[in-house]
Amino acid sequence: MNHLHPDVLEFRGHLARWVDERLIPQAEKLDEHHEFSFELFRELGELGYFGVMYPESAGGIGLSHPYTCYTILCEELARGSMGFAAAVCMQGSTATHTIHEWGNDVLKETYLRPALRGEKIGAFAITEPNAGSDAASLRTRATKVDGGYRINGSKIFTSNGTVADFITLVATVDPGKGAKGLELFIVDTKSPGFRIGRKLDKFSVRCSDTAELSFDDLFVPDDHCLGDGQGGGFRKAYQSLTVDRIFTAALALGTGRAAYDAALRYAGERSQFGQAIGKFQAVQFKLVDMLAKLEQARLYTYHASALADNGQPITTEAALAKIIAGDGCNDVCQKALSIFGGYGLMNEFPVQRFLRDSYFPMVGGGTSDIMRTIVARQIGL
Ligand SMILES: Cc1cc2nc3c(=O)[nH]c(=O)nc-3n(C[C@H](O)[C@H](O)[C@H](O)COP(=O)(O)OP(=O)(O)OC[C@H]3O[C@@H](n4cnc5c(N)ncnc54)[C@H](O)[C@@H]3O)c2cc1C
Repeated sequence: MNHLHPDVLEFRGHLARWVDERLIPQAEKLDEHHEFSFELFRELGELGYFGVMYPESAGGIGLSHPYTCYTILCEELARGSMGFAAAVCMQGSTATHTIHEWGNDVLKETYLRPALRGEKIGAFAITEPNAGSDAASLRTRATKVDGGYRINGSKIFTSNGTVADFITLVATVDPGKGAKGLELFIVDTKSPGFRIGRKLDKFSVRCSDTAELSFDDLFVPDDHCLGDGQGGGFRKAYQSLTVDRIFTAALALGTGRAAYDAALRYAGERSQFGQAIGKFQAVQFKLVDMLAKLEQARLYTYHASALADNGQPITTEAALAKIIAGDGCNDVCQKALSIFGGYGLMNEFPVQRFLRDSYFPMVGGGTSDIMRTIVARQIGL
């Protein structure tokens, strides 16, 4: 993207080299073994990449275009492995953003700074077995007791859930108040009452860790509540999840690029009927349509991140970016698989992984149809 600032282009260059040299050679193995890579995760932390969104005063790296650079981080990592990228995306965004925005100094010292160095792993848990799109109907309860709260309930689909040191948990302090009764809490996973139900087995983003968690009379002190205990948590969670949509769009874009690059290469190498299959117009049209979808996704995703860098409203744009990139890159991956013919179905070719992974951005952080309901509200419907 030539119109990007030279510092931003340099940032992409460094990162792309790390992805080519460190992540891509391990991506297949991590996916096959459903393995969360502590080694690569820590390495990225040491290199400072978890701090891309934050100023130096908070332990970040103080970049001039933090949202654009974080979008690049998610895109480039997803070019290598969306599963790994999803774990990183959670760490440097939603899991830490809440503490950066609303945490006190003790929480920042205990969780935020070590997380930005890659020494602690964070997660964000709002979804419950009976509360997905309708997150405000969640039932996990925080009951006020002397000096803090007792948490009871369960969460599902928590990314980084079995490996997390701390979790930003959304719970209700007053079930009668619906969305207005929600608060955010920082839960230390070493606390008595924290239990990992199970690590979930899935066909997409297999090397990201996804968990079912439960909280049984778990005590959190007052200063681990990111509010006044009266229920302002839904607005805060919504704010964190809104910006995260741009990064989820970037995950889709990165994997879409990998699928397009692989299919373009294959179209030049594979011969049938005495010529490269890329000489057949049907294959050419597929590749051109893939490029059109990718360009649309790229331009719109970076438009949304530029707005975020300028402090402008992004509710509509972040949701649109997630629709355009999420749905578009799933289509790119389906077309890529078809260009590989029978080989597309073989595990030795990564194109099947790209397609499997491309379903995640259409669900994580809110489904594509929920994004449509957000935009419908924004345009007055
Ligand atoms: C791999 C993975 C990682 C995840 N990581 C996290 C995480 O770290 N933390 C976390 O809290 N959550 C996480 N999630 C949860 C994710 O945000 C939810 O799965 C998502 O919001 C959808 O909720 P649901 O699965 O309960 O689907 P449901 O809400 O049950 O939706 C089912 C279907 O109904 C449709 N639908 C529902 N309501 C409406 C409506 N009003 N209008 C139109 N259609 C509607 C949906 O679009 C969908 O097609 C993760 C999910 C996955 C798969």
